[in-house]
Order: sequence, then C-alpha cells, then structure tokens
Amino acid sequence: MAFSQVVCPNQGLRQTYRKSSLSVKQGMPKSAYIHIPFCKHKCDFCDFAVVTNLDARIPDYCQTVAFEIANRLGKDKNHSLETIFYGGGTPGYIDTGELAVIHAALSRHASIDKDAEISLETTPEAITEKKADSWLKLGINRLSIGIESLNDNELSSMGRSHNRTQALKGIQLAKSAGFTNISLDLMYGVPEQTIESWQDSLTELLHFGLPHLSAYAMTLAVNSPLLKRYPLESPKMPSDDLAASMYEILVKTAHQAGLEQYEVSNFAKPDLACRHNMTYWDNEEYFAFGLSAHRYVDSVRSHNWRSFNRYMDDCLGNESAEEITESMRLKEGIILGLRTTAGINVKKFHQRYGIDLLKQFDKQIQEFQSQGLMVGPPESLRLTPQGMLLSNLVLSHFV
Ligand code: SF4
Repeated sequence: MAFSQVVCPNQGLRQTYRKSSLSVKQGMPKSAYIHIPFCKHKCDFCDFAVVTNLDARIPDYCQTVAFEIANRLGKDKNHSLETIFYGGGTPGYIDTGELAVIHAALSRHASIDKDAEISLETTPEAITEKKADSWLKLGINRLSIGIESLNDNELSSMGRSHNRTQALKGIQLAKSAGFTNISLDLMYGVPEQTIESWQDSLTELLHFGLPHLSAYAMTLAVNSPLLKRYPLESPKMPSDDLAASMYEILVKTAHQAGLEQYEVSNFAKPDLACRHNMTYWDNEEYFAFGLSAHRYVDSVRSHNWRSFNRYMDDCLGNESAEEITESMRLKEGIILGLRTTAGINVKKFHQRYGIDLLKQFDKQIQEFQSQGLMVGPPESLRLTPQGMLLSNLVLSHFV
C-alpha cells in the first residue's frame, strides 16, 4: 500500500493510507486496533497509555479518533477489516454511545467484514446488564475481561479496582447477556500469590468453560508504585523460579480444561484463537488509531503521541516512525512465529521471506534441539513446552 507521507520536523512522519496498484500486490491490513485510554483508576503495576480523571474529555477524544480514522483511511472505503480490537485502558468503562462514534467512523471509511471478530477489553466491574447489551447491539462479538486473579489479597496488591465478587459477577453478566466468545486475562508472579492461590484462581475460572484464556507474568516498570510496597526482594514477591512453576501449572490446567495452547501466553478452544492477535504473531500489518496506538502499515511501524494533550492537538502526528527493512521483517517473523505452538512452517517461510531458515540458523537450531528446547523440521520448527518456558532466552538467539 502506498501512503502519502508528510515529514514535519516537529511532528515526525505522518501517514495516511491510499489504495494503489502497489497496495494490491502487498495486501492491505485487515485488522484495526483502537486505543481507548480511559480507566476508572490506575492500577499500581500499569505502564500502558492510560488516563484517569479525564472523563469529561471522553466525547472529544472519541471525535478525535473518528477524525483520525477518516483522515488516515480516506474516503474511498477501499479497506476491508476482518478484525477490530478496542483495547486500552478500559474501553468497557466509557459510554457505548461514545464508542459508537468511533465504530461509525470505521464503518464509514472501511468495509467491516460480516464475520469480523470485534473485540472489546473491559474490567469486570465495568460490565452491567445494560452495557453488555449495548455492546452486542454495536456489533462487539468478543469480550476480553481483565480478571487477573480471584484472590482478594492479590487483587489489592496489584491495586486493582475490583474484587473477587465483582470479577465473578462480571463474567456472569457477560455470559447471561449472550456473549459466547469471552476471554479471561490473568496474571501470575504477582505479590502475595502462592502456587495454591494461583491454582485455585485457574481452576475456578476454567470451570466457567469459556473459550479463551490469556495469562501473563507480571512485568513491572522501574517506577511502578507497586515496587514501593513490594520491592523485588520482598518475600511476598514470587521469585522467577516460582513464576516458572506457575507457568507450568497454567499450561497443564488449561490443557486439562480443553484449552489448547496456541501461543506462549494464550490458550483457546479449537478455532477460537484470537484472530486479531494472530495478525501480530503472523507478522502481518495492521492499522491502529488513538492515543499512543502502534501501527504497522506499508512497511512502517509508527505510533501516535503518548501525551494525551499532544494527541488531541495532533492526532495525525507520530511520536515515532521506523521503516522495517527486509532483515528486520525476517527476524520479527522468526521471533513471532516461534511464539506460537504451530511454530514456523519452514517451506512457507522460505516462500515468504526468501531464506532457508535451517541453513541460516543452523547452529542455534541444533543447539536448542540438543537441549530439548526446540523440535522439527521437517514440517515446522517450534519450541517444546520447555522451550516455551524459556522463550525469551531462546528467541534472543535469533535476533
Ligand atoms: S485497568 Fe488495565 S489499563 Fe487500566 S490501569 Fe489497570 S492495568 Fe492499566
């Protein structure tokens, strides 16, 4: 896809997307991420682009995102979307009428596939019967609920604004409203957590029989307020070894509940992997709109201003933009592909990137195979469960 490009010394590389003969050959992004930064309260570990106490700006913000969509996508409605992901922040926190302003802009400037996966992230306490119903009416067909834990000590250690009762109620409300494609987000390696409490949260949540689970190890920014209360050496902070054991429990428990692992941190019932996130792991390009939103379009990765006021003043300006060279694309293809349990199909990889993976990375592959961290080919090259556990270490050898 070609893009009209305006380089401005103060505002970085601007991108708007226009269809051209080149775009047909390269393929257009089929996915769009929309960032909704508003949260009721900032959790103590959070390092996302989030704003609080700015609810009065929500209508303006949504109009600005709609303007950004219109300007980046253009009038021609040449783009077709198969996945849309409202992430945040807490998209579920804002009024659905405001969300509809953004969704209408997407519908005006792109064709939304009739089978599109349209996801929305929410905290459990933001779910009400009325809201869940309004999301369904808007076309949202997948909910990602940030449960994190069912243990009140752990939830308060993270500074979450919900408790166990609200978490369970949120899931029930989403289900009874009619959502079937629900994902639960969990965290392990959090302060106050033990092997037993992690196992209890997992077992109880998997009992709902929901089709998707994402579970991430807690990572903390250096200035995270949580670190003041729980320094890394605190006995209440799980060690790396304990977090690794929690990961093993996660894989085993999810598998027993009928969820297949399809990526290091993601598990789903057959055919219910998150299609939007697969775009990232398949190293495909995608649109993104909103505060600090990161996009990958036309071989350029760029992201919008992270400062709220700056974004509101200049929603078409980028905080950064980087052209992805062939060699960067290749390395990203390896790293992202190896994060999936399907791994990398060596033949398809050769067709797409023009290199023989087995020759180019012969030494690394043999070494990891001998350590039991990697298997394959002939068909695909992939990490073993032990390799998944050590994925950061293994993948660092391919960059
Ligand atoms: S709800 Fe999510 S996005 Fe909002 S502050 Fe908490 S962790 Fe961050």
